[in-house]
Amino acid sequence: MQCKIIPEECIACGLCQLIAPSVFDYDDNGIVHFVDEPHAIHEFIPKSAETSVRQAAKECPAHVIFPSDSV
Ligand code: SF4
Repeated sequence: MQCKIIPEECIACGLCQLIAPSVFDYDDNGIVHFVDEPHAIHEFIPKSAETSVRQAAKECPAHVIFPSDSV
C-alpha cells in the first residue's frame, strides 16, 4: 500500500515512530518524515509494515498519516 503524510501539520509527538520505527522517523524539530525518503510526502509501505502504519495513522493525534491502497 501507499502512505501519505502531512509534515506541516505534525505536532511532533513521536508516536508514529514508536509504533512503526521502520517507516517513520523525525527531524531535529520532532517533525515526521519517512525513514527511507526523508523529503517525500508519500511512499510505498511494504506488507510487513502495513499493520503498524495503519495503527500509527489511527493513533496520530494530528491525523496527518494516510495509509491507502489507492493513492
Ligand atoms: S504521530 Fe502524528 S503528530 Fe505524532 S509525530 Fe507522528 S505524524 Fe506527527
